[in-house]
Amino acid sequence: MRIKYSDVLVIGGGLAGLRTAIATQNRGFETRVLSLVPVKRSHSAAAQGGMQASLANNVMGKGDNEDVHFADTVKGSDWACDQNVARMFTHVAPKAIRELAGWGVPWSRVRKGDKSIVRNGERETITEAEDSHGLIDSRDFGGTKKWRTNFTSDATGHTMLYAVANETMRVGVDIKEKKEAVQLIYKDNQCFGAVVVDLVDGSMTAYVAQATVIATGGYGRIYESTTNAIICEGTGQGMALETGIAQLGNMEAVQFHPTAIVPSGILVTEGCRGDGGVLRDVDGYRFMPDYEPEKKELASRDVVSRRMFEHIQKGKGVPSPYGDHLWLDISILGREHIEKNLRDVQDICKSFLGIDPADKGKKGWIPVRPMQHYSMGGVKTNYKGESPTLKGLFAVGEAANWDMHGFNRLGGNSVAETVVSGMIVGEYVADFCESNKLEIDTDHIEETIRDFDRQIDEILANPVPKDGELDNYKIRTEMRKIMMEKVGIFRNGEDMQKGYDELVELYKTLLKTGIENKSKSANPELRVAYRMRKMMKLAIVATKGALDRKESRGAHSRTDFTKRDDANWLKRTLANWEKDSFEPAISYEDLDIMSMEIPPGFRGYGVKGNTIENSVTAEREEQIKKIREANPEMDRHQIQKEIMNFDLPEKYREKNERLGIGTE
Ligand SMILES: Cc1cc2nc3c(=O)[nH]c(=O)nc-3n(C[C@H](O)[C@H](O)[C@H](O)COP(=O)(O)OP(=O)(O)OC[C@H]3O[C@@H](n4cnc5c(N)ncnc54)[C@H](O)[C@@H]3O)c2cc1C
Repeated sequence: MRIKYSDVLVIGGGLAGLRTAIATQNRGFETRVLSLVPVKRSHSAAAQGGMQASLANNVMGKGDNEDVHFADTVKGSDWACDQNVARMFTHVAPKAIRELAGWGVPWSRVRKGDKSIVRNGERETITEAEDSHGLIDSRDFGGTKKWRTNFTSDATGHTMLYAVANETMRVGVDIKEKKEAVQLIYKDNQCFGAVVVDLVDGSMTAYVAQATVIATGGYGRIYESTTNAIICEGTGQGMALETGIAQLGNMEAVQFHPTAIVPSGILVTEGCRGDGGVLRDVDGYRFMPDYEPEKKELASRDVVSRRMFEHIQKGKGVPSPYGDHLWLDISILGREHIEKNLRDVQDICKSFLGIDPADKGKKGWIPVRPMQHYSMGGVKTNYKGESPTLKGLFAVGEAANWDMHGFNRLGGNSVAETVVSGMIVGEYVADFCESNKLEIDTDHIEETIRDFDRQIDEILANPVPKDGELDNYKIRTEMRKIMMEKVGIFRNGEDMQKGYDELVELYKTLLKTGIENKSKSANPELRVAYRMRKMMKLAIVATKGALDRKESRGAHSRTDFTKRDDANWLKRTLANWEKDSFEPAISYEDLDIMSMEIPPGFRGYGVKGNTIENSVTAEREEQIKKIREANPEMDRHQIQKEIMNFDLPEKYREKNERLGIGTE
């Protein structure tokens, strides 16, 4: 048996995992990162649009600060986020941007003077001040009040990931690529590492550590149409769930992005709409202002996706061999703008669609349709990023349900979350390592390896499906179809119940299904077989969560329960999976209105008056009003603290400085 030791084991080499690793390594804890692929090929590299942080450098960002960013985030989440965590996040995001600038991320910069932009379909001129020249620029993105999304043209994730990966190597983190964590090692409610398969030779090693961090990204590939990379299969969440101790949170909270290109599912960034691109229907008509007069194309993603779907259902979609779609028109931005700020988008359209989106008129319009995009759900953690039920297990990034996104995350808030949670949670992981001793039981480690090996042997021993029977690939296709058709943008109880029953049956079939290729090394068929056992569980959990949640909130939209129900459903769904069970156990965690800084209200977009109120909301509003009235002399920082003090490692508590106003 092979065992490798480190202080910290980070499973996942995307932005979140790498930034966490830098934090722990810098605190003196030997840190190892595992990744399926070379870390710079992680899915984070695909982020085009940008990263939210309230720098307030340019004219359209003036007046922005942590408070405005916080309010946008809470409203975007449809009041389902953890407001303590959202505060931690908005406070640290400006520091993260500046740190990344220091590591060489080539952020696009403000240029003084006049600038031609497109807003609301019309060209207009804005003027950037002399003193903001050269500072980090931002774009309109994510349905935010102020322009806050910082970007490096349209390759933001790429440049961020490269800079963070380089820093990881500089500080000496040990990176192991083509290694797949398959099972967590835990005993007496404490986690101390994972069983890891070498994807080349198939060998198994136990990676043992004082603290284990899951940073494996989203679970988008449980859906048929997704913008996610093929490695986003949610195996990290699956591993946590399979312990029977760690829980998953809000797995039914799945975001659909409005502008995935048809048919490939490759995303064209929301920056297209942020920069002034518009959506058109089969008649070339710009329909979004009819549905969303205020925010138009820039309402939150859940809202725009639903409006597009509704419009297609009214017969206004464009027929194609791949189903109906709508058009995204960025040609109105002009060739110069596209070739500078949206060149990746242009490249994608040329390579995969054979069109140039800078071509004027219909010729350049991009066929788009909403597809699965972001996983708000994940490994349930507390504000420190640690599982409340399995000590020593942490989670960061898209894999986690740290929960600053609630039921809808804002565009640009995700790559920001990866680095910010890496900074913050990394500190808490290091604190954990400082104050906890690890006692290693090698017998138990051996037993965990044997346990996974038994799973492999079982798969190899199962009968190989005959013609006409379901093999693992067909089961995967079926699962993805069910998720797309029955747990998609619009949901209803009847379809979801059917979907749920079908998924449970499929899962039972999967457990009895064998494979043709019997090799234990480089065997893609075997990988699919064992990964599918985790993916099926996630699909079942997400469906069950959606079925039981009898309301509409954020991206979870039910045609049979159309209102957001703050009276009964202001809570987080938690899922456990007992070993050998075919179904999850669902429980709930209440969100406490009396400790919210912003009590539930209208989001500012979507359908008005669509909420079943909670009586406590008025009480909290009154309490906040009184706090404000009683303290007229306090500045915004002091009053915020009075209303809802938030947690943060001391290291990141300092106020953020802004152009012209200091730390006001
Ligand atoms: C097309 C696209 C564009 C986007 N654009 C934006 C944007 O403009 N702004 C924004 O804020 N957000 C954007 N997002 C979202 C954002 O990019 C992601 O949420 C974020 O990058 C996820 O980072 P991560 O570090 O959590 O995970 P990832 O970057 O997905 O990294 C996961 C890592 O885990 C590893 N891994 C997975 N499973 C295992 C395992 N079992 N064992 C070992 N390693 C494993 C992988 O190899 C990888 O290294 C976009 C998403 C998509 C799909």
